[in-house]
Amino acid sequence: MTWVSDFAQGSGSQRELLGGKGAFLAEMTRMGLTVPPGFTVTTDACRHVMEHGEVPDGMWEEVDAALGRLEQMTGRSFGSGPEPLLLSVRSGAKFSMPGMMDTVLNLGMNDTVLEALIDWSGDEAFARDCQRRFQQMFAHVVLGADEAPFEEVLTDLRAKRQVTDDSELTAADLAEASERFGRVIAERGTIIPDDPRQQLRDAIEAVFRSWNNPRAMRYRRINRIPDSLGTAANIQMMVFGDLGEDSGTGVCFTRDPSTGEKVPFGDYLPRAQGEDVVAGIRNTLTLDDLAGINRAAHDELIAVMDRLEHHTTDMADIEFTIERGKLWILQTRAGKRTAAAAVKIAVDMVEEGLIDKSTAVQRVEPGQLEQLERPRIDRDHHKALASGVAASPGAAQGEAIFDCDRAVDARREGRTVILIRPETTPDDIHGMDAADGILTAQGGKTSHAAVVARGMGKPAVTGVGTMRVDGQGRRAVFGTLEIKEGDPITIDGTSGNVFAGLVPLVEPRPTPELIHLMDWADEIRTMGVRANADTPDDARRARAHGAEGIGLARTEHMFMGKRLEIVQSIILADDDEAREAGLLRLEAMQADDFEGLLREMDGLPVVVRLLDPPLHEFLPSMFELEHQMVQRARDGESTEDLEALEKKVSRWAEDNPMLGLRGVRLGLVVEHLYSMQVQAALSAVKRRLDAGGDPRLELMIPLVATTEELRRMREMIEAQILESGITIPIPVGTMIELPRAALVAGDLAGIAEFFSFGTNDLTQMTYGLSRDDAERLFLGHYLDEGILASNPFQTIDVDGVGRLIELAVKEGKAANPNLTLGVCGEHGGDPASIAFCRRAGLDYVSCSPPRVLVARLAAAQAELATVARDV
Ligand code: ADP
Ligand code: MG
Ligand code: MG
Repeated sequence: MTWVSDFAQGSGSQRELLGGKGAFLAEMTRMGLTVPPGFTVTTDACRHVMEHGEVPDGMWEEVDAALGRLEQMTGRSFGSGPEPLLLSVRSGAKFSMPGMMDTVLNLGMNDTVLEALIDWSGDEAFARDCQRRFQQMFAHVVLGADEAPFEEVLTDLRAKRQVTDDSELTAADLAEASERFGRVIAERGTIIPDDPRQQLRDAIEAVFRSWNNPRAMRYRRINRIPDSLGTAANIQMMVFGDLGEDSGTGVCFTRDPSTGEKVPFGDYLPRAQGEDVVAGIRNTLTLDDLAGINRAAHDELIAVMDRLEHHTTDMADIEFTIERGKLWILQTRAGKRTAAAAVKIAVDMVEEGLIDKSTAVQRVEPGQLEQLERPRIDRDHHKALASGVAASPGAAQGEAIFDCDRAVDARREGRTVILIRPETTPDDIHGMDAADGILTAQGGKTSHAAVVARGMGKPAVTGVGTMRVDGQGRRAVFGTLEIKEGDPITIDGTSGNVFAGLVPLVEPRPTPELIHLMDWADEIRTMGVRANADTPDDARRARAHGAEGIGLARTEHMFMGKRLEIVQSIILADDDEAREAGLLRLEAMQADDFEGLLREMDGLPVVVRLLDPPLHEFLPSMFELEHQMVQRARDGESTEDLEALEKKVSRWAEDNPMLGLRGVRLGLVVEHLYSMQVQAALSAVKRRLDAGGDPRLELMIPLVATTEELRRMREMIEAQILESGITIPIPVGTMIELPRAALVAGDLAGIAEFFSFGTNDLTQMTYGLSRDDAERLFLGHYLDEGILASNPFQTIDVDGVGRLIELAVKEGKAANPNLTLGVCGEHGGDPASIAFCRRAGLDYVSCSPPRVLVARLAAAQAELATVARDV
């Protein structure tokens, strides 16, 4: 087994083994770009350490040998002059996790090397700055020291020198910093080894450990990256962006990661080392500014961007450093981008001939498309409070919150949050995740806040220079105006503007690129996409997004408000006459509802599900009734009527309504309830036919467990259809949402014309848990502890619930080859679940209207994956 791979040996296809950073460093080396040489200690080694608690046998020998080759290649020596070799030790996993794990720069430093570095560079301040940076990073990353005491020393020195930036500290200041850092480290009972080789070993182990630091774990959970992958450690010759005015460092993207426009995009910071750009401590220059400073390096960078984009056929994110005028490339990866940018880049690249349509369809993450539905600011109508960098597009509004933990709390309480910080760091990930939008005083387009917000698809405005964020973190001051914690605020990440209060927003319009991409997706996919819609408005919106019908119209949502009383009067009726009167009133209302749905979906199927939810949702609560009685008794009033009502309600009371009188059971027990609904649906069809429409009604029976339940219902419905004189087909089907239904699907298929898998209930019933209680009480814990890999209510449980579906599909189709199969749970809008539905052979998925675009794209990707698997 070998544990080490030189950059010059590896290639871009080895992301699994070398991590993304290592694989691309190798690939760029192969391409002949100027990459500082180095080598990668593989993810295999990291996994070995995770499993066995120690590095594999022979690994340190391999590291020593690779180091020897590196010294040879660079002509420098590690740990001595005249040209000392300093190293960076960089983490890098298969999937990029920007800033989440640790890196140590300037490693190989000690007092002897310091002297050599002063001689070599002729710049004592530079050399001492390298040393103090090394001490700070090593102490933090390897020794686990807090950063605060180091920052305090620097703050103190800056104050004494009356400067705002570390780069203005003198050699003497930095020597003092170094000495005081040494004391901080010693006071904790730790020490930085003098021996560079020992430093290297310690740093490699620390990088491996950083895979499991809390923020990296949190990031992986948010982004669903498996914990088992491990990170690589990349050991690389340092190049110095802080070696005088003709040096600097920067980050760039080959296209604009916010909009996708084909323009180079980036930040440059003269006299700085890498982390300084991302940390957003000084405001940065643009690439155009760089052209003014060093035209040759700028042009070379543009040429490298072009080559990398052609080579990887994707938008690239590049880290670079200029050392005394010479350009070095330090990293590249596929750039994180907003949904709008992802769509535009994918479509543009097809037009440029870089990729084909199927690749374009695979380039956009379906879940991201929901971002495009986000409202925008109604631009010209409002006066901005301040403006900064348009870091991640879209509008967001909510309460100003200045602290990440409080942002999480606010989120839990259902409030919307704009997180306001001086700048963000990787420790703020949970707060950013909880926020709807992010606002910072510092940082440019490639600052941490900007990159992470774009990755999360959240609006962000950064670098608002006129905003002062209070040190105690409870308010922001804009000139004379002050925003306190909890105040409403609006940010527009498209323009970079910030507004006090909640300004009105407008609906977005689809771009031409989005329309192209969705057309391509539709050409590719074979599975239909319908929407779950209960009102004509929802139906219209869904159709505008490309829904090919309604997969689930939930009639109970039509029974709220005024109608609730009518439903109660039906269920609690004393005699047939009272019940009949209620039913007639309701029928008239329902006929209007159904007509509206059929009109909006003219020519497309509309699946109306007969009444389903637990009975208690329709009845006054016993608790409420008793409360009222107590009050009346206290006021000396009569409670006779309430007592009578309570008696009737108590007849229907259930201990466990979710497992009780629901769905078809209610239809069989409460006479005429279902036939009233069917009658209403049939009159709606008639009216649509009379109006010259093309109504495609389908009737669906919920919560069926036995064939006899379905048989009786179907008979009743068929009789009503016959009586109505309607001759167009009206398919009758059943939901499959009880495990028993899945098990007897072969028999049910003899009576049903379609199945719709109600995966919400099917998941509840298969797991034997009640979703709301479970999510409130323990699902979070299960997910945190890895007892469950994902929430089965979001992503279908392929091993359990999925097997029931596969069984029902197989036996249902065998019994009735014409059976139509769909899914109508929330899973119908989840990309991973949609992929499963395609594999299982379903005909369509049905999802909420805002997820229709997501489902269309996911269905196309599922198709491409299936085709790839089958060839
Ligand atoms: P991250 O994954 O957080 O970006 P990196 O490993 O890329 O961490 O390194 C952190 C910073 O240090 C980056 O800005 C990077 O450009 C800089 N850096 C890494 N290696 C070197 C090197 N060999 N020479 C100069 N700067 C470096
Ligand atoms: Mg990096
Ligand atoms: Mg259900």
